[in-house]
Amino acid sequence: MAKVKSRKRKQIPTILKNNEPALSMVCESVKEGEDISKITQALLYNLTKHKHGVGLAANQVGILKRVIAVKIGGIYKIMINPSFCSIPAESDDNGEIIPATEVQYEGCLSYPGVLKQVSRELHIKVDYINEQGESVLEKYNDLAARIIQHEIDHLNGKCILKGV
Ligand SMILES: [Zn+2]
Repeated sequence: MAKVKSRKRKQIPTILKNNEPALSMVCESVKEGEDISKITQALLYNLTKHKHGVGLAANQVGILKRVIAVKIGGIYKIMINPSFCSIPAESDDNGEIIPATEVQYEGCLSYPGVLKQVSRELHIKVDYINEQGESVLEKYNDLAARIIQHEIDHLNGKCILKGV
């Protein structure tokens, strides 16, 4: 009789693709004191596996909770119940209007090989709870602002192919 190797394997969910229903669902807010360690583990495991991955939302791994992981300036960050508001266009010292939105190509780990032009706010304020349970308000610009808006869209059931 051959010896059967038994190896416990942790069940970490992988990234859902294309027409999976969870991708078009609106995620629920995380409640105070709720354990989200499985969610952050699933997000970071999947995001760090992808060399070009810069963000992932919980419903992309089948968990309908408002948690995102983003990679900003080479650092991975977890944002719980994130929301953003745009910082309106301003004029610079020369009176030139600084644009508030920009159209750029975006890709998505749930839609491999797809690139779509999406208009995003260039300057945003983001409100979220960090992994330590603290309430945080931060400003983000350009690519970082784009990544966060893309991931928050996912939490609202929107993606680059639908609703954006
Ligand atoms: Zn995406």
